[in-house]
Parts: sequence; C-alpha cells; structure tokens
Amino acid sequence: MQHLSDPDLWRTDAYINGEWVSTSARFDVLDPADRTVLASVAECDATLTNDAIAAADRAFSAWAARRAADRAQLMRALADALLASEDDLARLIGLENGKPLAEAVGEVRYAAGFLTWFAEQARRVDGSVIESPWERTTILATREPVGVAALITPWNFPAAMFTRKLGPALATGCTVVLKPAEQTPLTALAIAALAHRVGFPAGVINVVTGSADAAPVIGEALTSSRTVRKVSFTGSTAVGKLIAAQCASTVKRVSLELGGNAPLIVFDDADLDTAVAGTIAAKFRNAGQTCVAANRVFVQSGIAEEYTKRLTAAVAELTVGRFDSGSAIGPMIDDDATAKVRRHISDAIANGATVVSEGSTNEAGDQFVAPIILANTTASMQCHQEETFGPVVSLTTFDTVDEVVEAANDTDSGLAAYFFTNDLGRSHDVSKRLQFGIVGVNTGVISAPEVPFGGMKESGYGREGSAYGTDDWTEIKYTALAHVAP
Ligand code: ADP
Repeated sequence: MQHLSDPDLWRTDAYINGEWVSTSARFDVLDPADRTVLASVAECDATLTNDAIAAADRAFSAWAARRAADRAQLMRALADALLASEDDLARLIGLENGKPLAEAVGEVRYAAGFLTWFAEQARRVDGSVIESPWERTTILATREPVGVAALITPWNFPAAMFTRKLGPALATGCTVVLKPAEQTPLTALAIAALAHRVGFPAGVINVVTGSADAAPVIGEALTSSRTVRKVSFTGSTAVGKLIAAQCASTVKRVSLELGGNAPLIVFDDADLDTAVAGTIAAKFRNAGQTCVAANRVFVQSGIAEEYTKRLTAAVAELTVGRFDSGSAIGPMIDDDATAKVRRHISDAIANGATVVSEGSTNEAGDQFVAPIILANTTASMQCHQEETFGPVVSLTTFDTVDEVVEAANDTDSGLAAYFFTNDLGRSHDVSKRLQFGIVGVNTGVISAPEVPFGGMKESGYGREGSAYGTDDWTEIKYTALAHVAP
C-alpha cells in the first residue's frame, strides 16, 4: 500500500466502464531509485482495449449532450479532489517516477490546473454565423466534439500529461481511453479512482494499463479502431511517427507532442544571475528528463567564463537522492535512460569535450547520475544530436547572432528554445528566427495551463493548453439553413 493516507488511491487494475478490471497477466512497476517492485499491474490486451473503446463509445452521446456547465462542474470537482489528495498523489509520483517530492507536489497542482482551466474553457467553446452567399439562408459554423479519443502518455509527468489531454477532451464532450506509460501507471489509476469518486459517468474515462511489450498491442487496437476518432500522443519521436502512420488508415485526428532538443542561448548582455537561474530551471527539472529540457547551451564568448563560473556554483548546490530525501535530483527512470546519459557523457569526452564540474551521487545508487557540466561540446556529438534526458549541461561558445541562430535551428526538433538578453530588439529578432514552438526569453519556466504548448518540425503538431487547446478536440460543422417559401 506504500503508506498512502487514502488506501483507495492504490489501484493496480485497469479501469473500464466505471469498473476495476483485473487480469491474470500482470506486469511489474519498479521504483526507479532501486529497481525494487512497487506493484503488479494489470496487463491489458487488445480485447480489453476494445472493451474500453466500446465503453467510451457508449458513454459518448450522453456526455457530449450534457450542458458544458455541468461537465465543467465535474471537472472542477476532479481538480479539487486532486488537490485534496495532493500528498498521496505526489507520493505515488515520487515512488514510480522518482522526482523529488517538492516537484511532485508542483506537478499535482499543475495537473489540477489543466482541469480547472479547461473547465472554464468548456463554456467558451463557440462558433460563428457567417454572412451568406445565398438569399434568405443562414450559415452556421459550430463546434462538435471529435468523439472517442485515445490518450497515450509518457512517464515524466504521470499526472500532468494525463490531465493536459483529459481537460480539453472532457471540456469539449469527448470520452477517453488512456494508455499510461508502463513505468508510471499508478498515478493515472489514482486519478481514475478520484474521477470515479466525484461521479464521472461510467465509460467517460477509461484507463488501460500494460507493459512495454503490451504497448504496441494496445497502441494497435487504439489506432486501428474505427470508433476512436482522435489520438493524442506525448512521447518519443519514433513512436509518434509510428502512431501517425497507423492512424492514417482510418484518417484519425492526431496530436503529437514529441521529443525536443532545446537550445539555450546566453548573450553577452544577459543578466547573468537570471541566465543561471533560468538554466537551472530549464535543465534540471525532473533530473533533466523533460522534452523542454535545455539540451544545448550556447554562451557568447564575452561572458562565457563568468557564466560558467556562476553556473558551476549553482549546480554544486544540487544534491542527488531518492524522491523523499530532500534532494533536488532524483534517479533516471530506467536502465535504458541511465545508459543513454552515460553514453552521451563518454561520447562527448572522447570527442574533445572537457569536464568543467561533476557532482556526486552520494552513493545513491546506479540509477542516479550526478549533475555534470561539459564544455566545448560540438554539433557532431551525441549530446547535440539527441535529447540527453539527464542532468548534463553541454556548453558551447559562440561569437555572432547569425552563427548561434543557425546552430540552434540545426536540429529536426522544434519544441522549446530559451535565450537570455537585455536587448529588446534582439529579443524580437531572435525569437522570430528560432524554429521552435515555444520560446522562453529571460526565463526557464514556460509551462502552464494558460499557454499553447507544442512543437514545430519533428516535435509534432497540435497545441495543448490555452484557448487554442480545445481546437484539436472539436470538428467544425457548417450548416446552411435555407428559407423555404410557404
Ligand atoms: P519514452 O521514450 O519517453 O519512454 P515512448 O514513446 O516509448 O517514450 O513512450 C511514450 C508512450 O508511448 C508510453 O505510454 C508507451 O507505452 C507508449 N508506446 C510505446 N510504444 C508504443 C506503440 N507501438 N504504440 C502505442 N504506444 C506505444
């Protein structure tokens, strides 16, 4: 039970049609800090996934027909329930994801924020009346929910990636089948338990869980279903491309929030304390395991030495340890993640990067990586070519604006970018020239329910959050109403 104050939130079965569904096949969820087994969770197959789709389909018409204000009321009740259970939910996030408790509490609040924001938006989904080209005819453009939606989420924000999709889905009248990441299903199941408790009708929210082996099976059932009309996916670029391809045969709507390779640029005129604080925020949240993590740090040569000195001092403050140890940096999510980060570090060093500073894991264990700053990293190194997804700062110096803009854009990804400058003209100019969906100027904090989050290029399409966030969940219907003479 892992010491939850509300044992009802410890759920290990799938949630389909308002019921907890057990399976004989199970898979293990591990504590990333020490690889011990936390829970044995239902291993769903195509049949159970189809059951969940059918339940969502049965629930759809009545849910879509409800008054937006009524749907919003339930959504607010769920947000309140998340906040009332924030200690338990944060503990679940800490256990299965490993992030420090303070970050986990922040995630629960952020997750609840998507529900309240979209509860407010539910009543603002509107259309228009268009001037008619025909006599005595009225042209209406109205918005309708797309229908049953499949949500596929990653492990790095087990609560927030669920509610960021659930919010607009519920607000617009869609029903959902969620497939949470195999590493972190417990938080999503706890949120489903809260949704059940606050009174969501059976079938509106369904959760099918599965191991890494089951993911393609569940994914195939979701993407090939003629009933599912939309897939919203957050995860790796490789799986996102596969999902988009699989959805083509039924012409489903697809929203993809895929990998990033964020540049962070510090210009000579930047306020250095702001730049250092922004780098820490953009780099080390969730131990560097976020798609908006600063992956390549470019520093203008005039301040490179001073910035590096101050950054080194700030990084030295970051301690490493379990989620409940009061440390700033938790474990990598799994062995593959740890191996990738170590591979990027050794590749950079083998190809000429120098180690500016390296922290200690304080013997926390093999799943932990100490924060490290590497200088003289280059475009051909793995740490520039791929997302490192770990507590590694890759520093490169540059001289001119044109040079750094070109280097920053030299990637197939286009999610987040950051830069630090006190020059207003440069702020506008560089922001326009960066091929990224999200640009943080003089800040490393860019995520909130109020903002349109999403990428360009191979980082995907669609926007989550903000007033734009309901667009991808609705169809526009145009109706021509012609007058018939009696
Ligand atoms: P990451 O590298 O961040 O773990 P993945 O893209 O592998 O990203 O995982 C993101 C989500 O996609 C997880 O829920 C995972 O189970 C799911 N997933 C992985 N492979 C498939 C697939 N073939 N079809 C559908 N979902 C998948």
